[in-house]
Amino acid sequence: MMTVMTAIVAAFAAWLAAFGEQAPGTSTQPAPPPVRRALPQVTQEFIAVDAPVVALQHVRVIDGTGAPASDDQTIVIEGATIKAIGPSRAVTTPAGARVLDLSGRSVMPGWVAMHEHLFYTGPTGQGRVAGAPEYYPTMVYSFPRLYLAAGVTSMRTAGSMEPYADLEVKRYIDAGRIPGPKMHLTGPYLQGPGAYLLQLHALESPEEAAKMVNYWADLGFTSFKAYTQITRAQLGAAIRAAHARKLKVTGHLCSVTFREAADLGIDSLEHGISASTDFVPGKKPDECPAPVGNEGNPEIDSPQIRDLIKYLVNKKVAVDSTLPVSEAGVPGRLSEMPRFWDVLSPLAQADYRVARSRADQGGAARLRRSMDFEVAFVKAGGTLIAGLDPTGNGGAIAGFGDQREVELLVEAGFTPLEAIHIQTENGANFLGEGARIGTLKVGKAADITVVKGDPSRTIADVENVEFVFKDGKGYDPKKLIDSVKGMVGSR
Ligand SMILES: [Zn+2]
Repeated sequence: MMTVMTAIVAAFAAWLAAFGEQAPGTSTQPAPPPVRRALPQVTQEFIAVDAPVVALQHVRVIDGTGAPASDDQTIVIEGATIKAIGPSRAVTTPAGARVLDLSGRSVMPGWVAMHEHLFYTGPTGQGRVAGAPEYYPTMVYSFPRLYLAAGVTSMRTAGSMEPYADLEVKRYIDAGRIPGPKMHLTGPYLQGPGAYLLQLHALESPEEAAKMVNYWADLGFTSFKAYTQITRAQLGAAIRAAHARKLKVTGHLCSVTFREAADLGIDSLEHGISASTDFVPGKKPDECPAPVGNEGNPEIDSPQIRDLIKYLVNKKVAVDSTLPVSEAGVPGRLSEMPRFWDVLSPLAQADYRVARSRADQGGAARLRRSMDFEVAFVKAGGTLIAGLDPTGNGGAIAGFGDQREVELLVEAGFTPLEAIHIQTENGANFLGEGARIGTLKVGKAADITVVKGDPSRTIADVENVEFVFKDGKGYDPKKLIDSVKGMVGSR
């Protein structure tokens, strides 16, 4: 009996030690010198490269600034930080470093993805059921792994259905208890009356909007998202409360126009032109006109849209591109990759098959229009950031969708280097994290994605991820993806 108890106590102490804590009364010895501590086993098993010093030799560097790629470079990582980058012949690899010969590979900064969620459409197995309230479950298990596997090392959650769950997922990841990206939490949606999702609270007053912002900001949420039915007064109150704390507000708008939101001081607009109601004839203030579409909207190259773009640029309002969620509804463009089907749960597969059969004939024109708007916006000096939005008909999912976003930016008309810059440095600067992440530079966090091939020429090579370094530890993307087979839609 005693030996069993002793074993249990020892196991408990070891478990605590794994989290850097000490069991009460187990030791009064002076602290040992610091050692590189392994993460808890459940995370450690996904790490393929873990050494105090790592040298990535003979690699093509795409640094995230938009500068041309540099061939045959060596990057030295020490601990969690980039210690050196330069031509392989000039950079000395420290003795004892773990050396990876990465000839034929390219590296990019870990992506800073800006319209991510931990939730996904709630599959029924029968597609959308008439009369069934919409409910989006949170993928606490599968999505953090899929984001990281795709090369997303930092993400903004851009609206939460289960804010406490999002908060705990972030804490678990930061403690190394589960693998996943660094998370920048966005609060629960700021929505007016008429929400179609059960999990959204309908604000009743501007005061309540400010109260909600302050409550979640106190818990560590760093941004807020206004939604389709919010009133101008509620949005204004939320923006004032957030800005007083140096936090940002974004919006997937409808009841409030882009121009009105810019006047109220909003920081960014989600989904680009597809969410604008600025040109809907007869639009009533504070009301979301239905149905919302681009029909009747002016051409991207019209004076009206050019004026709107100029207005947003002058007010320093960023636009967040979310092309994959639009693409998923376009006939003939739906995702057919085996890796996509492999991770969906049986119910989610069934729902997505139904959704494919209902693909929207007008979708292709709308997707092209969104692309054209984003290119025009950047040409006019606007800041474009990027994400995927894993909602819609279920065809855009964490990680894979972020890779697709970068490919679609290239289809829109950006060069591969520009697209990667949008997905890395622009996001980091928008988050106020530009000094730490977003480009490959000495002194910055060693958040680095290694891919086979050369995405500076062939953008689809962003899918060939071999390692994802987060804070200097190299994760194995295949293992991460294999660990969530059949789970998306479930957890
Ligand atoms: Zn969204």
